[in-house]
Amino acid sequence: MKKVFCIANQKGGVGKTTTAINLAAALAALGKRVLLVDLDPQGNATMGSGIDKNKAERNLYQVLIGEATIQDARLRSEAGGYDVLPSNRELSGAEIDLVQMDDREQQLKQAISQIEHEYDFILIDCPPTLSLLTLNGLASAHGVIIPMQCEYFALEGLSDLVNTIKRVHRNINPGLQLIGLLRVMFDARVTLQQQVSAQIEAHFGDKVFDSIVPRNVRLAEAPSHGLPGIVYDRNSRGAKAYIEFGDELIKRVKKDALRDQARPPVERRQS
Ligand code: ATP
Ligand code: MG
Repeated sequence: MKKVFCIANQKGGVGKTTTAINLAAALAALGKRVLLVDLDPQGNATMGSGIDKNKAERNLYQVLIGEATIQDARLRSEAGGYDVLPSNRELSGAEIDLVQMDDREQQLKQAISQIEHEYDFILIDCPPTLSLLTLNGLASAHGVIIPMQCEYFALEGLSDLVNTIKRVHRNINPGLQLIGLLRVMFDARVTLQQQVSAQIEAHFGDKVFDSIVPRNVRLAEAPSHGLPGIVYDRNSRGAKAYIEFGDELIKRVKKDALRDQARPPVERRQS
């Protein structure tokens, strides 16, 4: 079953971390066992889950360079009801350490494989780059979820990301798929946003999630309280949207699994 998902977009500030945290909390609220991997040296997913990134005894950097096990490094987000593999700025050093390793894009995958069976979903919050760290994320994942804002330049960077996904699919991880695009920070009153949203639908068809996350100040306030938005104010429009998205993702994963089962084995092997 597909369950390891990268939340990726090389554009900065588009809502990756907000999506990773709130999707993790939404899936946990829907009864799923979730691990959130913070693959960004900014450590925002760690902090937003209520874990002090500088006080965590072990972190993802140590796991990637083989100084800690993933079992020892993960922590519980009591606030969110899911586990977190924490990070802080130390992780930026991993780029240099990894370059010298064999299988340098496979280190995260190897770590995740040790605990994969313990979870229903593993979400990876990627940094705003197409770096070796992000490659490690893409090499580990079954699929990519791309949060995007419906703005004029939104589509421009998207082709770079889609091409990177295709390259990783071809060369490193044949299982990798684009799961879908999630429209976030959406303001329906802005005509341009409606136009770009329609363009995205026309271009990507059923790869666009039906759920749309509105611009909602409660989602932006939540991290300063160390809480996912859906816990901070579960009745806010933003929280409801992420719960709906969690539900949609679970259904989509089930539908994909049924479709894969229905295909003859030869075709399955080739895809
Ligand atoms: P980076 O590229 O730096 O990792 P990111 O893509 O992870 O950024 P976020 O950190 O999730 O983006 O969001 C950027 C800013 O937008 C944050 O201040 C966040 O609180 C705010 N934000 C995200 N989603 C929403 C939303 N739906 N409504 C209002 N504010 C939002
Ligand atoms: Mg982020």
